[in-house]
Amino acid sequence: MEVQRLYLDGHWIRPLKGESRSIINPCNQEKIGEVAEADREDAKKAIAAAKRAFQEGTWPETPASQRGKMIYELGELIEKNKARLAEIETLNTGKTYSESLWDMDDIAGIFRYYGGLTDKTAGELLHSPNPHSQSRLEREPVGVVGLICPWNYPLLQAAWKIAPALAAGCTMVIKPSELTPLSTLLFTELAEQIGFPPGVINTVTGPGSTVGAELAESWEVDMVSFTGGVVTGKKIMQAAAGNVKKIALELGGKNPHILFADSDWETAVDFILNGVFFHAGQICSAGTRLMLEEPIHDQVVERLTDRIEKIKLGNGMDEGTQMGPLISEAQRQKVAQHVNQAVKEGAKLVCGGKVPSEKHLENGFFYEPTLLTRCHPGMTIVQEEVFGPVLHIERFATETEAIRKANDTIYGLSAGFWSKDPARIQRVSKALRFGTVWVNDFNTYFTQAPWGGYKQSGLGRELGPTGLEEFTEIKHVYQNFNPQPTHWFGSKA
Ligand code: NAD
Repeated sequence: MEVQRLYLDGHWIRPLKGESRSIINPCNQEKIGEVAEADREDAKKAIAAAKRAFQEGTWPETPASQRGKMIYELGELIEKNKARLAEIETLNTGKTYSESLWDMDDIAGIFRYYGGLTDKTAGELLHSPNPHSQSRLEREPVGVVGLICPWNYPLLQAAWKIAPALAAGCTMVIKPSELTPLSTLLFTELAEQIGFPPGVINTVTGPGSTVGAELAESWEVDMVSFTGGVVTGKKIMQAAAGNVKKIALELGGKNPHILFADSDWETAVDFILNGVFFHAGQICSAGTRLMLEEPIHDQVVERLTDRIEKIKLGNGMDEGTQMGPLISEAQRQKVAQHVNQAVKEGAKLVCGGKVPSEKHLENGFFYEPTLLTRCHPGMTIVQEEVFGPVLHIERFATETEAIRKANDTIYGLSAGFWSKDPARIQRVSKALRFGTVWVNDFNTYFTQAPWGGYKQSGLGRELGPTGLEEFTEIKHVYQNFNPQPTHWFGSKA
């Protein structure tokens, strides 16, 4: 199997030490690729290429409309190649092919959106206290950016960063997760066809502890945009302190999904299932924390149990598969430990809670869709991100109790609730301390709206116009058309 190389300064090259890593399909542990394993020295070379491209290259000065056109064209090329990209994404992550296809359509749209936005971001004039002056704000590219991505939505999360960074005029080093680099490498080949100047896009595959850490620590990198776990996010904050680089962090979540008794709970059940079992729950915004008002608790649990027991596990490439495997054995063990711990702490296991026994699933990292009841905020499972197909349920008696419990978390990425009462909708959406609040919906996000978290779910916002602003610096230019002598230090001799 050919070893996929690093893309650096417009060339595909071997890593300095010549090492490589096997990539496997989590659905059956078959090897599906071999990619270059870079280390710090390779990362330094990539950073230097991005720096040259920023300081000496043409990209930041290329007229915005021309940059936008190239970004838009990249979106079109992604659309044309979406079947190939989606297949690679499914083979590498285990998610269903239909989910991957959805991702690729979304990614194409993200590039088209930021391509279109590139020449719509003009500066602005400010009111100045001096009538003989002009005061203006300009937005300039922040410079060399390090983009560090997770394994759950490999190309989608990368696209949230790459498209606006290109639109802002930045140059970049992209580091995909060591588990799921394949779609980012194929994307890089497509980007090469568009003809971005050398050094604008550099893709370096390798470990977080070396390549990722170098991007976070390097004084030549002006900004790191990171998506991943909160523990890694904190390490990146510390590493970024060296040169006080700008950071954008999209971290984990523990997302409450609240059903009031006055809601259309039967429709909500579909959203609950999608919210937890898409991509086997390996979603930062997974609505794993279901909170049910007392009068509807038993009916909803009964309906959910029936539906969860019918979820079809399998190979993401097979039609009819509804849920794939977890990404690795380590992730499966983490999920199992969370479930066991929850039961020890008093939760009731209603269904799932084990590795499936079917023959055709035995080589994959599958875990049964799981439902736990009798949970409360004092339990580990209610406080920590599980990142697996586990739905756990808490009861509540009043609106005040629901809000207090929902906000009782270190995270603040997203929350959702269902109600038909307009006054309650107003009160609860205001009281929830989360970056996104869904009302009578769950897990709907789109390119035009900002995405990001309160509290330990992160810093900054991706998507929408804010996602582009993150990759810019603000410059204030003040021009005095009629400078007058000042007398602070005496008059002129
Ligand atoms: P992770 O933190 O383990 O790794 C993320 C990336 O960081 C990988 O590329 C990894 O190689 C790199 N990395 C690891 N150590 C590093 C270090 N010391 N310095 C620099 N880089 C380092 O996360 P993961 O397991 O790949 O992804 C799952 C996490 O991502 C979950 O917590 C999930 O909630 C979060 N996530 C958040 C969002 C969001 O929008 N908020 C979206 C997707 C995933």
